[in-house]
Amino acid sequence: MAKKTAIPAPEPQAERVVDTQASNDDERYDRVFRPSRLEDFVGQHKHKNNLRVYVEAAKRRNEPLDHILLCGPPGLGKTTLAHILANEMGVHLHVTSGPVIEHKGVLIGLLTKLERGDILFIDEIHRLNVTVEETLYPAIEDFRIDVMMGDGAYAESLSLDVRPFTLVGATTRTGLLTKPLQERFGVSLRLDYYPVEDLTLIVQRSAKLLGVSCEIEGARALAARSRGTPRVANRLLRRARDFAEVEGDGRITDEIVELTGQRLDIDPEGLDDMDRRLLRLLIESYDGGPAGIETIAAALSEPRDTLEDVYEPYLLQQGLLARTPRGRVATRKAYEHLGQSFPDAARQKSLF
Ligand code: ADP
Repeated sequence: MAKKTAIPAPEPQAERVVDTQASNDDERYDRVFRPSRLEDFVGQHKHKNNLRVYVEAAKRRNEPLDHILLCGPPGLGKTTLAHILANEMGVHLHVTSGPVIEHKGVLIGLLTKLERGDILFIDEIHRLNVTVEETLYPAIEDFRIDVMMGDGAYAESLSLDVRPFTLVGATTRTGLLTKPLQERFGVSLRLDYYPVEDLTLIVQRSAKLLGVSCEIEGARALAARSRGTPRVANRLLRRARDFAEVEGDGRITDEIVELTGQRLDIDPEGLDDMDRRLLRLLIESYDGGPAGIETIAAALSEPRDTLEDVYEPYLLQQGLLARTPRGRVATRKAYEHLGQSFPDAARQKSLF
């Protein structure tokens, strides 16, 4: 009899504290932290002011809002804005996501439930399948859906009306959105990473909601480690509160944030072990690069999509990583960040 080989269980993946994607714990706290009015949504002033006008105009005309596409990395407030828009318009919000709408029937079920003016929020809208997307076109353009009744020679196409509604789509990958879908949105907004000042306000607001005392220096130090992302700021705040309660006197101070960073292995710029591994890989194994994304993904045992969606955007935005036609390159700033000397031009030449 063949001897059975024991297959080792996969290593449990540690939770990444600076992950910009929502964990179950984040979703529980979203109910506490999520602002419900535009005036409480911190930062993104240009978009906020424009949205205020669109809401006001739609209300005056007694019409649904125009369809809105929200783009940008995870954790920057796309879902929050959809909630706020529904609240400001005084309508119901129906939340779903691209992968959940598996077939046409699911979409038709959602559309026929909508009341006049309701908002249908489709997260990860770039992941809708083709048939579902094509069913959506007449719904968003003319508020009707085409359904087939009967089979074979007796099949008949019926056009059903849906009540005028607003589609709010969210995507982290505008590049993956089809042109026809993109063009059907009247408004398209790109959310940017938040500056430290705005994140400081978000931390202070959330600390208040949690009933924890947070000094301004503590809030600023948390903001600096939050990768420009409110979701990360709120998560770090919860961890800092734990350290403050157990290892301090309950107040979140600069020192408590420093301690939280050390214990969670997050440096003052918000980089964690995974970010440093990526940069170190480029520097130490590829002389700073260029290295192809597939090569990096294989070396770090991470899917390419995760690298592109979750890790890279912040490193690129911080100027620690550069994308070139030949692959990813570690910048001078990356060498300095890791305490390594940047090879001068002559040395770089001698390496090739
Ligand atoms: P996304 O949908 O873009 O992934 P979310 O809307 O779920 O992001 O936001 C993540 C968390 O960050 C939520 O708890 C939300 O309350 C908070 N948040 C996001 N943007 C802001 C903001 N501008 N002001 C205050 N809190 C924010």
